[in-house]
Amino acid sequence: MTPGVRPLIAGNWKMHGTLREAAALAEAVRAGAVAEALPADLLVCPPFLHVQVLAAAMLGQPVAVGAQDCHAAAKGAHTGDIAAAMLRDVGATHVILGHSERRADHGETDAVVRAKTVAALAAGLVPVVCVGETEAERLAGQAEQVVSRQLADSLPDGFAGIVAYEPVWAIGTGRTPTEGDIAAIHGTIRAALATRFGAAGAGTRILYGGSMKPGNARAILALPNVDGGLVGGASLVAADFLAIARAA
Ligand code: PGA
Repeated sequence: MTPGVRPLIAGNWKMHGTLREAAALAEAVRAGAVAEALPADLLVCPPFLHVQVLAAAMLGQPVAVGAQDCHAAAKGAHTGDIAAAMLRDVGATHVILGHSERRADHGETDAVVRAKTVAALAAGLVPVVCVGETEAERLAGQAEQVVSRQLADSLPDGFAGIVAYEPVWAIGTGRTPTEGDIAAIHGTIRAALATRFGAAGAGTRILYGGSMKPGNARAILALPNVDGGLVGGASLVAADFLAIARAA
């Protein structure tokens, strides 16, 4: 937690679910969010195809809807891609950028992530920019160095968004760094943000992601400079996602 910063629990649904399943999951999250005063804001990020329907269904509800990627260009000859303004047009408010699966599957570099972040900001979307070391980098003692470099190179000047620290080796594995290691990296990220962006950086939400579950959420979310979570697997079960939000 960072004093004065309201936590955000974000669900990264990745490439899961039919439209019917996505709508049912969003509705279950919405129902949970209106039934109690949760200590965190909620965001769900379905596949592109489901963004429009869910954004319409969640309009005015305490669940924001975002996408999992966008193109860096405003428009043009980019077959199969989606522009940030298109996402904004159909009601999305956030976009995850630079997730390690995008970096690995699509060769996204820090420069690409930075260009996409610029595009998202220009379109009025809140970017959720992901950074995180691989297991080899952690074992080599390079985690802080890698994350610092990704952060410096992935965030544009004037950045106003959210940062997610997601160690690659913790994603979908059931393994997490120690609380001390999470706190250390989040402290490094906070210091870098504050140095580069001043007061804005001091108040930027820094999410933790990687095997966050109801059972470990409370301890992780209590750490200094952990301002929420980016949740994959556990966000596909409404009860688990809501339990994590309750732990914030
Ligand atoms: P996980 O995924 O919670 O399933 O580990 C997190 C993510 O990739 O955003």
